[in-house]
Amino acid sequence: MEDVLFYQNYTSATDISAIAVCVVCWLLLGSTYTIKQKNLVTFNIGNALVCTAAISSISYHRLIERITENNIVAIYFFRNLTYISLILTFVVYITYIKNFLNMNGRIECIVDILSWFGAVVFIVGEIASPFIRWGFYIDENLQVHQNYYLDLFRFFYVYYVILIWGSMILNKKKFITKMYNCLRNVILISFLMMAVQDSSQDTSLVCITFSLPILVVLFLFHYNAYDYETGTLDFRAFDAYIRDMKKKRFTMLYLYLKDPTPEKMHELTVEFYHFNERYFKNPCTFRLRDNKMALIYEDDKNKEAEQQIPVLIEDFNELYEQYQIDYRIVIIKSDHSLHGAYEYLALDEFLEGRMDINTVYFCKDKDIAAFGKTLYIMKELKDICEKGDMEDERVLTYCQPILNIEENVFTSAEVLMRLKLPDIGIVFPDQFIPLAEKKDYIHTLSKIILNKACKEMNSLDKKGYYLERISINFSVQELRDKNFSKDVLEIIDANNVKYGRIAIELTESRNETDFEKMKKVMNELHGFGMKFYLDDFGTGYSNFERIIDLPIDVIKFDRSLTLLAGKNLESRYLVGSFSEIFRKSEYQVLFEGIENAEDERICQDMQAHFLQGYKYSKPIPMEQLTEFLSPK
Ligand code: C2E
Ligand code: CA
Ligand code: CA
Repeated sequence: MEDVLFYQNYTSATDISAIAVCVVCWLLLGSTYTIKQKNLVTFNIGNALVCTAAISSISYHRLIERITENNIVAIYFFRNLTYISLILTFVVYITYIKNFLNMNGRIECIVDILSWFGAVVFIVGEIASPFIRWGFYIDENLQVHQNYYLDLFRFFYVYYVILIWGSMILNKKKFITKMYNCLRNVILISFLMMAVQDSSQDTSLVCITFSLPILVVLFLFHYNAYDYETGTLDFRAFDAYIRDMKKKRFTMLYLYLKDPTPEKMHELTVEFYHFNERYFKNPCTFRLRDNKMALIYEDDKNKEAEQQIPVLIEDFNELYEQYQIDYRIVIIKSDHSLHGAYEYLALDEFLEGRMDINTVYFCKDKDIAAFGKTLYIMKELKDICEKGDMEDERVLTYCQPILNIEENVFTSAEVLMRLKLPDIGIVFPDQFIPLAEKKDYIHTLSKIILNKACKEMNSLDKKGYYLERISINFSVQELRDKNFSKDVLEIIDANNVKYGRIAIELTESRNETDFEKMKKVMNELHGFGMKFYLDDFGTGYSNFERIIDLPIDVIKFDRSLTLLAGKNLESRYLVGSFSEIFRKSEYQVLFEGIENAEDERICQDMQAHFLQGYKYSKPIPMEQLTEFLSPK
């Protein structure tokens, strides 16, 4: 089948379309916010190669229609340029996929070798073909020869499709299925187009089949749409923006709005966007959540921005008076210790949590340090929970001995948790309990504390000390866990401790559903003999009816009541009456926060059963309880 002259069926319309597609890709890139990572460079090279191929393909076909002695070199040149550009597009395509997939060393190496090997062989073969009269060449009589079976491009096209497809299949798990399917289908469509044009002996479609995958890649991996109504970008773009800034300094203004309606939010977003344009050069506005926006500007491009901010905030206030929506604004300057969008957003939320409504806060260095500590604690808490080691050495069982007034000896103790973290040492509960509660790490911590406290108890028993009971703090939210009772009983069983020697301290809950769950779980555990202490009585909104409804053994009067009783006679009478009511109703009464002899005397007068406080001991490691306990 020598000398089938495919070029004779060529029309330039599709190559012109291919050029147009390349230009459209660049226009889109220039007018949307795109992720400027390494792969965008690869993308641009690919697009340029296809564009080059299409332009030289048009030139080649124009020239070959009128062959003369003088343009033979130009014909070879443009023909080679067309096909070499296209083969290199394949190499770029493979590089792109490789970067995108973060392929592992060995596979990456093999794919690299195969793709460059193919390119080199093709380029050499293509350039050599006129000399060795192989495939395409023009003879002395200006006759064109094109050996169908020795057409290198056809061969290498199939080679690269297999290579690309093969590396995609090998790394299928790293793709989002939708993206994978889309890419696969586009490769298939391009391949079919090539097959169709081959069967009709044409070469017009070659370049456009290369543009299609480029367009898909742009759309799938680089396109970050503005919300076209408000000009804002989403979190993904926010994340990319911060990564792209690298060493550049920038400032971000976070705006939180309290419960805006969607319509008001929409209007405000538009206002906010125009605000930013008025005050800053090249700002980007992001909408991170339904009620949170962020504005970022580059410091170098906005040297006077610092002075602008107070004016901006004043304008803001006017706007919010008009809209009547509460807000908080946090202003954060970029800091090398913060990495990525999640950390900036977390810092914003960390600061916002401490702010009053309708205020503005400038983040300070000390805030970043405090936040860094919080992040570190979070990381360690997560690790503790993921490891789930019931003996984890980072969780310490401190405790405070409790004086039994009747016997005048310390017979019980409250267990208080501390963390001991490698980088920062001892951490107190106020710094980690709220975090652990928020992230649902608290139950694992409680289990570790319970397990360790039981072990300490056994060790004190063995040494011959008398410790009637320990009380352990649990968070009300833990009771929601359906495994709560099972977990607690299992740990106590495993340590062979009598149920009656363990008490759970709980504070009152304000939540109706918590109350019902709490009651159910408490009754179950109480049935096994465990005890319950009501913690911090006097600080919540105590409801006697509810307290009576729960199986509580000991009422712990909060330190504020101890202080109140010391104030004057009337207060003492009030607190004393509470104490008396509980005593009469068969509860035992414990006063917390006894700091001195005066506190002690007053609480004894009010007929407490137990006293606890710094007067006797600050919280100490549990093994040091030996200094307070009596022998059996
Ligand atoms: P809490 O249960 O009310 O614990 C008593 C707190 O009062 C302890 O603080 C203790 O050190 C302190 N305290 C004791 N005597 C005195 C005193 O005479 N004067 C004063 N001013 N304070 C005294 P700590 O250990 O920092 O614990 C704080 C809170 O953290 C606890 O309050 C408790 O709610 C929580 N917590 C501690 N350990 C755990 C735990 O293992 N699990 C849970 N869920 N919460 C815990
Ligand atoms: Ca407590
Ligand atoms: Ca307490």
